[in-house]
Amino acid sequence: MIADNINRIKNELPAGVQLLAVSKFRPIEALQEAYDAGQRLFAESRPQELAAKAPALPSDIEWHFIGHLQTNKLKMVLPYVSMVESVDSLHLLSEINSWGKKEGRVVNVLLEMHVAAEESKQGFHEEEVLDILFRSSDYPFVRFCGLMGMATNTDDAEVVRADFTRISLHFDYLRDLFPELEAFSVLSIGMSSDWRIALECGSTEVRIGTAIFA
Ligand SMILES: *Cc1c(COP(=O)(O)O)cnc(C)c1O
Repeated sequence: MIADNINRIKNELPAGVQLLAVSKFRPIEALQEAYDAGQRLFAESRPQELAAKAPALPSDIEWHFIGHLQTNKLKMVLPYVSMVESVDSLHLLSEINSWGKKEGRVVNVLLEMHVAAEESKQGFHEEEVLDILFRSSDYPFVRFCGLMGMATNTDDAEVVRADFTRISLHFDYLRDLFPELEAFSVLSIGMSSDWRIALECGSTEVRIGTAIFA
């Protein structure tokens, strides 16, 4: 049961940690069930799917985008979301800033960090994130809210822990270095298979799909 899953996970989350229900590939009815159980924060990873679902569900849902976002799809995504968690290139960042300027909106983003062993995973390395934040004033229509990351896809908990620790250490370092970035407070790590490890590594937001909806 979706409601039971949500309640079970929420009971284990420390105060201050948000549960993001990853609803990609799930039908509207499943999202409505989660909504009826009190869930208000959802995430999608495909522009078309988000644009189809968001208008069909209650308007007090807060949507985050967590998938790879091509700049030609920005207009399909940004009107619906309160945050883009998957900013993984300078080009995307500057296009988001341009959209914000045109629409008179400041867009909340997380910078996606690449720490996993897989080549295919998107994201920035430590020094690239650092460079972006040194130049944060170049992006007045972007609000830098923190970091997002994925661990290596493995059953080895110590590898996962090392990946999350790396992101978490960089997150702490950046918060110390840029205290003027007051919104920089979200560490989005942890999915269905590894969210308990992520909590031990300082996660402030877990992104959970399968363990809620499957
Ligand atoms: C699908 C997805 C999740 C959720 O994965 P589950 O294993 O189903 O919990 C989390 N984060 C991102 C970026 C995803 O694409």
